[in-house]
Amino acid sequence: MADMQAESSLKEKVLIMDDDPLFLKIIDKQLKALGFETVTVSDDFEKIEFYIEQNRPNIIIIDFFLGNIEGVTLMEKINKGYDIPVIFVTSSHENEVLEKILSVSPEGFIDKNRLNIAELKAMLHLTLYKSQRDRELKELNEKLDIKVKERTRELDQAVKALVHEMSEKEIAHKKLEKSLRAEKEFSRQKTDIISNLSHEFKTPLSSIMSSAQLIMRMMDKAKLSDEKYNKHINRILEGTEIMNDLIVRILSVERRENIALETQMLEMDLTTLIEEYKLKLEVFKQDQQEIIYQEDIKLGTVNIDPNLVELVLVNLISNALKYSKDEGSIEVSIQGIDNPPRLLVKVKDQGIGIGKEDLTKIFKRFYRGQNVGSIEGTGIGLSIVEQTLDILGGNIEVKSELNEGTQVDIEIPLEVNN
Ligand code: ADP
Repeated sequence: MADMQAESSLKEKVLIMDDDPLFLKIIDKQLKALGFETVTVSDDFEKIEFYIEQNRPNIIIIDFFLGNIEGVTLMEKINKGYDIPVIFVTSSHENEVLEKILSVSPEGFIDKNRLNIAELKAMLHLTLYKSQRDRELKELNEKLDIKVKERTRELDQAVKALVHEMSEKEIAHKKLEKSLRAEKEFSRQKTDIISNLSHEFKTPLSSIMSSAQLIMRMMDKAKLSDEKYNKHINRILEGTEIMNDLIVRILSVERRENIALETQMLEMDLTTLIEEYKLKLEVFKQDQQEIIYQEDIKLGTVNIDPNLVELVLVNLISNALKYSKDEGSIEVSIQGIDNPPRLLVKVKDQGIGIGKEDLTKIFKRFYRGQNVGSIEGTGIGLSIVEQTLDILGGNIEVKSELNEGTQVDIEIPLEVNN
């Protein structure tokens, strides 16, 4: 039977387990006299966990022989689930018993036959002091453990941040290298383009020069018919215009951008505008070449940026002529249609064509097809066309077969003034 007499106080509590009622009584009395609170248990020892849970003792005193159960078995149970110091009591002096007791390392050992109150007091206080220290040490250890874990985590994060920073630096370094390479490549391309463009100056310049010389020689207007006079003056003007366009292109290369593509919408009659374009496009023809137009203009006055549209047409039509035979003709179909209002232009030639591999790259700045041979060019025309169409909200499609010809279709949305 368990005789649990526990006063509820803040005193240190001792749980005593012994099947000898006399000894229990004596030790209980002595402990109380020493100022401890006590709980005595004289049977049902296997319910040790229950007694602990109920009483939460600070120290446990166990007899080595508890009828059919040994005190060490109980101690093993205590050690498994609790952190409570245990003191053994026994009256046996047999080596076997003492060895068994020592094997479970109790906090203390009391000889029943020589129970001395002063010794008991010292042992209990020492045990309690030690267990308190152990607890503090354990707490300290746990705190330290948490701190070490925290520090390890912080260190881990710092290492990760460092690795991240290093890889960022590496990326930045690679970017720098890439832009340096691009810079070098650009500067090489710039030299190529400028020398190509300079070459292109020759044609308009020589026609300006020859026309000017002719006019000079024939200053006496009588020797030059009005018609011829006008023709040469026009050649000079057209040549100057081409050269002006070339200079703009050179400057745009220099500035790393295409021609200042600012929109300037004007209200214009579409048919008149197209007639103006046709006149301007004449200069790109070789003498034997022909531009066959097919028109279907259903729109009247439109809001249009005439310069940007001209830029697109000039580039496409001059390409079609340039990449065709000297005597080849090209077809240009122009439609101004409604619903929604838009300009559709189809430029078709029977020239050298564009290889499949090149077809995906021709809009890249400075890219020139592999089959251009000695045909002069800079590789920026189509990139300008693409940019311009982007601004105008239009689109472009290029179909081509090598040695058969090329067809370029563009669509530009228009605004109609009602
Ligand atoms: P460029 O004509 O000055 O080389 P573009 O940007 O206008 O530059 O054209 C890029 C490339 O596309 C040309 O070098 C050429 O290979 C190809 N190309 C464009 N238009 C035609 C065309 N009508 N016929 C054949 N090839 C063309």
